[in-house]
Formats: sequence, structure tokens, C-alpha cells
Amino acid sequence: MFNKILIANRGEIACRIIRTAKRMGIKTVAVYSDADASGKHVRLADEAIRIGPPPSAESYLLADKIIEACKHTGAEAVHPGFGFLSERASFCEALKAAGIVFIGPDVPAIEAMGDKITSKKIAKEAGVSTVPGFVGLIEGPEHAAEIAEEIGYPVMIKATAGGGGKGMRIAHTAEELKDGVRGAMNEARSSFGDDRVFIEKYIEQPRHIEIQVMADGHGNVVHLGERECSIQRRHQKVIEEAPSPFLDPETRAKMGAQSVALAQSVNYRSAGTVEFIADKDKNFYFLEMNTRLQVEHPVTELVTGLDLVELMIRVADGEKLPFTQDEVKMDGWAIEARVYAEDPFRGFLPSIGRLTRYEPPIDVEGIRVDDGVDEGSEISMFYDPMIAKLVAYGADRAQATSRILDAINRYRIRGVGHNLPFLSAVMAQKRFQDGDLSTNYIPEEFPDGFSGAEMDNYEQGALRALAVAFERSNAERMARISGQIANRGKAAIASVWTVREGRENRRAEVFPVEDGYDVTIEGQRYAIRGALDATIAMFDGNVNGEAFPAQIDRDGIYYKLSYAGWELAALVVPPRIAEALDKMPPKEAADTTKILVSPMPGLLVSLAVEEGDEVKTGQEVCVVEAMKMENVLRAERDGTVAKIHASAGSSLAVDQPIVEFE
Ligand code: ADP
Repeated sequence: MFNKILIANRGEIACRIIRTAKRMGIKTVAVYSDADASGKHVRLADEAIRIGPPPSAESYLLADKIIEACKHTGAEAVHPGFGFLSERASFCEALKAAGIVFIGPDVPAIEAMGDKITSKKIAKEAGVSTVPGFVGLIEGPEHAAEIAEEIGYPVMIKATAGGGGKGMRIAHTAEELKDGVRGAMNEARSSFGDDRVFIEKYIEQPRHIEIQVMADGHGNVVHLGERECSIQRRHQKVIEEAPSPFLDPETRAKMGAQSVALAQSVNYRSAGTVEFIADKDKNFYFLEMNTRLQVEHPVTELVTGLDLVELMIRVADGEKLPFTQDEVKMDGWAIEARVYAEDPFRGFLPSIGRLTRYEPPIDVEGIRVDDGVDEGSEISMFYDPMIAKLVAYGADRAQATSRILDAINRYRIRGVGHNLPFLSAVMAQKRFQDGDLSTNYIPEEFPDGFSGAEMDNYEQGALRALAVAFERSNAERMARISGQIANRGKAAIASVWTVREGRENRRAEVFPVEDGYDVTIEGQRYAIRGALDATIAMFDGNVNGEAFPAQIDRDGIYYKLSYAGWELAALVVPPRIAEALDKMPPKEAADTTKILVSPMPGLLVSLAVEEGDEVKTGQEVCVVEAMKMENVLRAERDGTVAKIHASAGSSLAVDQPIVEFE
């Protein structure tokens, strides 16, 4: 076995690989850019080598620097994780030339599967079912139109070099096709430096189902079942699970056998994933093969009990797979949610900044958190905005779902925007719980974006009651502080309070009982039991006998409570204060629609308007790139461009003005 390996990655996946290596008694070397000098992966590893400034192109993507780091530290093998250099054949070749082992497949397999057209051809030959379409390059708009006619609309235009959902467009008509081809080519050129595209049939009501394969260098290939990753936003996975609620044993066996056949046909070694798209009749079609570990591998680990990273290291070292296909057993259900630094309430714009609070739900039964950050870590604009992967295991899908929902409630992230409220809202939906998934799930269920989870009246009332109980408990504590002017706390320990949200008032009555309070709001009684200490950020007690894990923040005099993707911002005041507040004139919201500011630090990629242009609501104004994502900023209302404050190619600070309207 290797004595020392280097992990050519950062963040959660670097930490996850280091953990397994440590358990196997292998020494680890981390590499880092200046942005990650105090990163968690740096701290976890036995040694760490700086490889350059923050941009990936000047650090994590530099094969030479990584090889140099191996030589310097004596690392015998490199695990690339995913992204960065994980699917670069040239990197593997360079490692080989330097006598260092690549923990992954061989170069020919990476090359064969790295290009979507080549891989589709190979898959077809190996007897794998592929998406009907044109297995070749599109030469231009006319050629595209011809092919689309032949295949029949709707069609999908895809970049051959594609990945991460980039360079992909759907076209239902010839008109959309023209725009789509242009859009896909532009995006492919800027993302991959390669604008080759092809066209295939768009599968309707698609479900994304993928098969995990594992192969050694001795001709043994097995599959470890499927993962369903249909919950996607902009073709990027958000929630994944194993097994798939859609597959029957027969379809599973067929998909598994085809995946194994494909892996064998390219002499595959290591972990790989064969991705399929399935239609509503359980027809399935090959999309691509990823020749690396996937982000969502933990769900497979939880249902199979296997450690995929360990297996990758072992087969890279020449060992045989320690089991046969028949010995692979799947048990229970696992669901993973990707926790992103993005603001679901603002169109999922990436959010950056410091994690002023970071408390993941660890040591909770059935919960695994794969992360690469700590409290105080910086989520920077240079890398992927994923903060962590939250994974739940249960005996069945219902238990896994309820565990992950509970864990989301207990996950505390402050300082950056995050998508936990959104994840919670999705998984609480009946449609999700029924397993009625599709890659269009998010646009179908949230057509106007996300503005908070739906809460029933009872839950809303429970949050309000909790705020009242907190305020009352605080008031009691204040009154007990010695040395106070007599009677100071008296008025505050009242039993009638007003919960004020915006300008809306609700009367609440509260009565202290042993171990809590009984609060009545709008005719509903809430028995709140458990510690309501002013210092706690998480309510760990019960409401009417049921756990109600709500998070509590104080924002000035406001209470901010959150539960199940819903947030309550309220004042809890004596009724006479509420009455006085009612008499204050409402504050006019500042008019910010006249100026378009950058919602995050980033690069102004392009401007679609000029001074003097008329714009319509929803029209594209400019594109800002941050955290590897292009974000289109649109006009919030009709108007005329008065002044342009930034030029394409310039970098932007958060809230920096870009365009001013008349
Ligand atoms: P990438 O390599 O960019 O991730 P994939 O080919 O794996 O691209 O596709 C990503 C997602 O795009 C799929 O999970 C699916 O949601 C959607 N998709 C891809 N091809 C098709 C198709 N032919 N029909 C319908 N949806 C598709």
C-alpha cells in the first residue's frame, strides 16, 4: 500500500479523501492556493504545500505544481477528487511520466469518455441504449436545423466538451434552435475553450438516474446500484438519492449490466459513473460517463456500506476488488442535499463572505455531513459555492427524508446566504415525498422562484408562540437581576403581548408553567416545553408534545425564527407599544430600481445595453460572472438607460453600480 498520497483538490472532497486515507494509515499531503491557506483540508492533512494564488487556473489546475509537490513530499499517488484535474488525460500522462500513480482510470478510458460524441459512439457499440440523435458535430445553423427536423423537436443542443450543465440548450422550434445553438456555442467556448456542439432528442419528463461502477485492473467490473439525481437547478444536481424511487429490479439490472459492459469496453479501472436519462415509461438512455468520483457518491456508500475512496485507492495500488457483483448488497435509503452558498430568495445568486456561524448537525443518528469549512471560513468567489453535503440514511425513504428535514432545521449557517430553506421546502413537498421526480421538478414547482416555504397556520402560530415564550422568559430573567430599580421589570412580565410582523399585530397570552409556557394565539394553544435560555440559538424542546427544532436569532429588537424553510421576523412588545407603533407613518422603501448594482463581487462579462437604450422589464442588462457561474441581470422595470458605470471586462465589488436608468 502507498505510504503517502497527495490530494489535488480542496474543500469538502479533499477533507473526505484525507479522512479515508488516514483511516487506512496512509499519510496525506494537501495542496492549497492563497485563498485556502487556513482551509480545513490544509489542517486535516499531514503536510500541505502552497501551489499559487487564488484563481484555479493559477493553482489547482496547474499539473506541474502538483507534480512538483509530489516530488517534494514523496507522495506516491494523487487522488484528484472531482472537478479541477480529475478528468484531464494530460495530467495523468504527466503523473505517469513522473512515476506517480493516478488514483483513477487510465488515460485511454478518460479520453474515450471525456468527449460526449466519442463516448456516445463507444456506448452504442457496447450495446448501451443511447439518446436518439446525431452522433456527430454540428457544422452550422443550417446543418443544425436539418438534423433537428430529422430527430423531431424538442431537441437538446449540447457541448461535446460539456460538464456541469454548461453549454446546453433546449429547442422546441426552429426559431429556438437558432438561438440555442448560438447560446450553447458561446457558453461552451467560454467555459471549455471548445465550441463544438451536437444535437440529440430532448427526453420529456426526464429523470436522471446514474449507475456507480467500480473496476479493478484485473478485469473485474461491478456496479453498485443507482442514484437518482433528478432534482436539478439549471441542469445541476441539488438533491440526490439511492436507490431511485422509480426503478424496478428489472430496469436496475438492465442499467447495471449495460454500465458494466461500457466500463469493460474501455478497460475501465477505478470508480466511474454511467449517467442515464429515463423517460416516464422507464426507457433509459446513456448521457455520459464520468471517469471520477462523483459529488453524490456518499448516498451509494450509505446504502452499500462501502467506502468508494478506499476502493479507489486499493485498486490504484493494484489490488483486486474484494467482492463480486453478487456480494454487493443494498440496504435502506440515503438522500443527499447540496448546501450551497447562494441566496434562494434572490434568484439563487451566489453569496460570498465569512461564515460567522457554522454549526452542522453532527452526531445525529443517520446524518453524515461532508464539509470543508469551519466557523470563520471564507466562502470565496474563486471556487464552487458548495458549502457542504448533508446526507441522511434511513431504513426507508420516508425515514431518510424525515431525518434530513430535521437535520436541515438544526443546521446553523450565518454570514452567507444559503439554500437550506429551499432544500427544506423541496423535501417537505408531497410530490417529493411521493417520489414523483423529474429534472423539471424545480421549474415546475417553483415557477416564480422561491419566496419561502409554505407553512400551515399551526406551524406559523407555533413560531410566533415561541417568540412570545422567549420574550417572556427574557423579561423574567431581567426582573431577577439584582440591584435593579424596584418594579422595573414588572410591566415586562405581563401575560398579554403583541406579536408584530410588519404592521400586522397579533394578540398573545402567555402563562408560565413548570418547564415552559402555555401560549395562546388566535385561539390556538401552544404548550412550549424546554429551555428558553437567552443564549441559545436553537430551540431543542417540544411544542404540544412534538419536537420543534426552530432556530432563533436576535436582530436588534427583532426576533428572527426559522423553521422548515420558513422565517418569522417579529417584534414581541406590550400591546400599548404596538398601538404606538401603529401611529407611526410607514417607512417608504427606498427606490433602488433606478440603479442596477452588482449583487456580488465578480466580473462584468458583458453589457447588453448602451446609454440611451430603452429597456423592458425582464430584459437582459448585463452578465456578471462569479463563482464559476454566469448570472444574467435583468431590468426590473421598463425604462431608459441613463448612464453606464462599468465596462465589460471590469471587476465589480458587491453593490457597485453598473447601470443607471432614467
Ligand atoms: P453535463 O455533463 O453538463 O452534466 P449531462 O449530459 O450529464 O451534462 O446532462 C445534464 C442534465 O441535463 C441531465 O441530468 C438532464 O437533466 C439534462 N439532459 C441532458 N440530456 C438530456 C436529454 N437528451 N433530454 C432531456 N434532458 C437532458
